[in-house]
Amino acid sequence: MEILYRSTRGGEERITASQAILNGIAGNGGLYVPTEIPAFDRPVRAFASMDYRETAFTILKAFLTDYTEEELRSCINSAYGSQFDTAQIAPLTEAAGVHYLELYHGPTIAFKDMALQLLPHLMTTAAKKNGVTDEIVILTATSGDTGKAALEGFTDVQGTRIVVFYPKHGVSRIQELQMVTQKGDNTCVVGIEGNFDDAQTGVKKLFTDERVGAALAANGFRFSSANSINIGRLVPQIVYYVYSYARLLREGRIADGEAVNIVVPTGNFGNILAAWYAKKMGLPVKKLICASNENKVLYDFFGTGTYDRNREFILTSSPSMDILISSNLERLIYHIAGDDAETDRALMAKLLSEGKYEITDTMRKALTDFVGGFATEEETKAEIARVFTDAHYLIDTHTAVASAVCDRYRRDSGDTAQTILASTASPFKFTRAVTAALGIADGDADDFALAEKLSEKTGVPVPAAVSSLPGAQIRHTRVCEVTEMEQAVRDFLGIKGT
Ligand SMILES: *Cc1c(COP(=O)(O)O)cnc(C)c1O
Repeated sequence: MEILYRSTRGGEERITASQAILNGIAGNGGLYVPTEIPAFDRPVRAFASMDYRETAFTILKAFLTDYTEEELRSCINSAYGSQFDTAQIAPLTEAAGVHYLELYHGPTIAFKDMALQLLPHLMTTAAKKNGVTDEIVILTATSGDTGKAALEGFTDVQGTRIVVFYPKHGVSRIQELQMVTQKGDNTCVVGIEGNFDDAQTGVKKLFTDERVGAALAANGFRFSSANSINIGRLVPQIVYYVYSYARLLREGRIADGEAVNIVVPTGNFGNILAAWYAKKMGLPVKKLICASNENKVLYDFFGTGTYDRNREFILTSSPSMDILISSNLERLIYHIAGDDAETDRALMAKLLSEGKYEITDTMRKALTDFVGGFATEEETKAEIARVFTDAHYLIDTHTAVASAVCDRYRRDSGDTAQTILASTASPFKFTRAVTAALGIADGDADDFALAEKLSEKTGVPVPAAVSSLPGAQIRHTRVCEVTEMEQAVRDFLGIKGT
């Protein structure tokens, strides 16, 4: 069965998966969605005998139907290899009654690697398939982790360049160092005087500005996106939900067909949307628990049916979730409206003009799979301490938000279903907050001394992605205003004029 892609905001055009991956975002500002969500072509238990790569192949083949099997296998083999520190790629650890799905064993020790190790290969393959000879310019806004993961994925990939914008004052010191020390002649990293939403809005503007597009084309370039709006990010994220369910099945932790709950620390809504797609494909999932930090716009949305971004933006200890416009929610809106682009377009126009919109009762009924929850900063800290004290298991701040939400949900609801919880970053990426939570913080120590301290306390070794940073050369120093983002791109590409 061939799966084609269309924009959430309509238009008649139906394009192939490889074209959608190349384009990143639709010309009318919409996100590409499959015209149909493919069902599993085999019983779920068949996945129990597969390794990560084979699971990835099966899922990707169902969605990316214009890629050949050889192309998919070659992409997958390049992506999920020795750059991960475990052959399992995404191991499960049980602690305090929850199955933590560790998605941080890749090169940048955060879950973005799961998709971004694969995307560059899907993209360069797509370019070849579609006869594209222009150099691909990846334009990315990051709240911290995407940027480094995208840089790591695209660095020195032939026929590509990558520009990353991050909020200068909104990421951790380690996150910033990871990015500004990035090697590769095709990489460019710029801090902006603004928050993540400003960066993301600026990137979206550049993408849809025809004048900028024309200037690029005249110089042999074309934009694409590595942000989670790219369908080539979303599809690889479905894989680990299927893989982890199958692991539990293989280990006899669940019965064949038994429904599990999935808890996801959420920002841009990409990771949890992938879990929803997995459920639509046929994965036995009971509840999808969407965990927010104090920027709880999604919690309010699931509770009221109104999405309202008009509120204070709060900087928290889980910066990758400090987001007020969750881009990927647009895909869910489109689907729960009955794959209706008209409705989606109207709501997104309201979001742009008024900063909020309300969905209909019928649409709300389609959301019963979801439970929203949020954790305060205090609760997040307490959860890191609780899980470590009770189970001697160390989690980062993002994972702790989800873990706290999960713990409260289970106590309040009495729901005893087996639970898979997406563990999205290594605790060593957020040492300051994690050591504070464990009561071993030291105001005078830098992040690296704290990492050593954390390692001593917990017996977990400091990952090389952190320990190699202090000696690394800083290669990117530019900081600009939001209004100067276009100029930064032009300067890097050597395109004159305005
Ligand atoms: C990106 C990120 C998230 C949020 O994921 P979304 O797909 O944007 O919802 C959560 N935790 C970490 C560590 C991340 O890097």
